[in-house]
Amino acid sequence: MNHRQLFYNFLGQTSEAPLAIEIERAEGLYMYGPGGKEYLDLISGISVSNVGHCHPEVVEAVKKQAETYMHLMVYGEFVQSPQVQLAQFLIQNLPENLENVFLVNSGSEAIEGAMKLAKRYTGRSEIVAFKNAYHGSTQGSLSIMGNEAMKNAFRPLLPDVRFLEYNNTEQLSQISPGTACVVAETIQGEAGAIVPDPGFLKQLRKVCDDNGALLILDEIQAGCGRSGSLWAFEQFGVVPDILTLAKGMGGGLPIGAFISSREIMHTLTHDPVLGHITTFGGNAVCAAAALANLKVIVREKLWENAARQEKLFRQMLVHPKIKNIRGKGLLLALEFADFNENKVIIDKLIEKGIISDWFLFAPHCLRIAPPLIISENETEKACAIILETLNETYMSTALTKENG
Ligand code: PMP
Repeated sequence: MNHRQLFYNFLGQTSEAPLAIEIERAEGLYMYGPGGKEYLDLISGISVSNVGHCHPEVVEAVKKQAETYMHLMVYGEFVQSPQVQLAQFLIQNLPENLENVFLVNSGSEAIEGAMKLAKRYTGRSEIVAFKNAYHGSTQGSLSIMGNEAMKNAFRPLLPDVRFLEYNNTEQLSQISPGTACVVAETIQGEAGAIVPDPGFLKQLRKVCDDNGALLILDEIQAGCGRSGSLWAFEQFGVVPDILTLAKGMGGGLPIGAFISSREIMHTLTHDPVLGHITTFGGNAVCAAAALANLKVIVREKLWENAARQEKLFRQMLVHPKIKNIRGKGLLLALEFADFNENKVIIDKLIEKGIISDWFLFAPHCLRIAPPLIISENETEKACAIILETLNETYMSTALTKENG
């Protein structure tokens, strides 16, 4: 059996139509298939490869740590230098109240931990989340997913979850003294790169404070430089009580974190003891990779390049078929009329060696979220190919219509 057959036969599938593109190696902005077929990565493995694939400093850190030790003990018991250095580096680059880091394995686990922490700290049970939010696929994080169709088959899920409309300030009055926390993506990712309206997050922060509810900002997708600032919340004048990170934090290895004040985090140590347990959370090799990755992002201020390239994408991607460009930095969504139109473009782009995708809750939007190292030339190249593809498709539809 060839690799594709093995993939279909032996791997659990997540859909009837996986992309099933075979990649043999990846470097920087590019992935390479059999025979050396080159693909420009416009989605970074869904907002993961912020410093590009196989960044030499990340690879070096992984090799060095793998030769030193990999796993010693469950999270939270032994003093492991990659973990403590990573936590220190994060704290040095975060506002004052975000001073204590709990390391986990993934975005979903960061959200699970953050929700548990908020319930434990406040002694309350209600969790408020937003429509079209994506926070993960485990049963807790799924419970605050703002999409009914994706949840129905898995009920019962967590009780006491209330959904509000993102960017609707009037509905914020539903947050009450019974609310443990509000979980919000600083920029909604899977909704199709929805940016908060001016003042929305500030108002949300105020209502949380007025009610003693914790504000959890999920920057699993928008954080680590992707939004045009190191942390997306910097652009909206708010600081969360708990910040969740994963994806672009690890430089390609699986790691996540929830971060809060020491006072809040301390509650996980007692009543009950071991309030969140994770065997592999903050794995030494993953932590070493994350530290090397974050050092590159901060040293090279990659968020500045993200903002520069956003401008160029917006300038160049002007076409009658593109209804709108949403998002910030290098978390952008090109809005088309419908999913079919988007899918035709995505398929043709893949044939031409550009990897893109749609968004889970915005299937009519094409995802542009390349590694933050993308150069002006590469952005221009990607835009030229997108426009060429749109023109071909547009002309062929026009011709079909004429012929019909
Ligand atoms: N939150 C956000 C905003 C995400 O985009 C994702 C993943 N798409 C998650 C949480 C869950 O992360 P993971 O897949 O690592 O569990």
